[in-house]
Amino acid sequence: MNKFHVLTLFPEMIESGCSTSILGRAKEAGHIGVEAVNIRDFTRDKHKKVDDYPYGGGAGMVMQAEPIYLAYQHIEQKMEKKPRVIYVTPQGKVFHQEMAKELAEEEELVFLCGHYEGVDERVLEEIVTDYVSIGDYVLTGGELPAMVMIDAISRLVPGVLNNGDSAEYESFENGMLEYPQYTRPPEFLGRKVPEVLLSGHHGRIEEWRKEQSYLRTKERRPDLLDKNK
Ligand code: SAM
Repeated sequence: MNKFHVLTLFPEMIESGCSTSILGRAKEAGHIGVEAVNIRDFTRDKHKKVDDYPYGGGAGMVMQAEPIYLAYQHIEQKMEKKPRVIYVTPQGKVFHQEMAKELAEEEELVFLCGHYEGVDERVLEEIVTDYVSIGDYVLTGGELPAMVMIDAISRLVPGVLNNGDSAEYESFENGMLEYPQYTRPPEFLGRKVPEVLLSGHHGRIEEWRKEQSYLRTKERRPDLLDKNK
């Protein structure tokens, strides 16, 4: 089982986001575990404040180091070895499928979700092992990025997908995008399912899918083909 611990100011986002569909079933079946830890529970401030003005001035607020550190210690002390701690940030390496595969090997992972202008650098230096971005744009908080990563990693955990084949033939697995998919009916708004898929000829279907996969990658993501050269 892979366990994800998420340090967040909005635990309800993580709890609801990871409780439906495939992730929800995986949790119930015990293939994954998701624990949302509310950073606000670890502030000593009587008003439960967890942020303050940035030193040096400037817009917005910064999340304070101490509540995050105490929340981290609370989960770390229950673990046998020091975990990898991922700070989701637009300043990190951009997440991709190979990274998801590598992280799926870890039994426990900790995610830190920032808000406002970000997090006091000192606690990042103290606890973070990996800085990961989900793309070159800025979101309001780290919960969606953490959930994106948890979803992508969980699909690779044995038992999470019903059909093991699904992950194997997915986009990126062989360095290309997946071929187009069709289901019933055989005709929709005058558009027919390609004849070959109805032929029952596995060899020809395989050939067709390979070709489509290549053509689609060439059209939409030629950078992937360059990478494989
Ligand atoms: N001031 C920060 C900067 O310029 O890098 C951006 C802070 S952002 C408004 C608030 C939080 O959202 C970040 O601390 C981070 O946890 C999360 N976040 C925003 N965009 C993200 C992205 N593309 N990938 C991962 N996390 C992101």
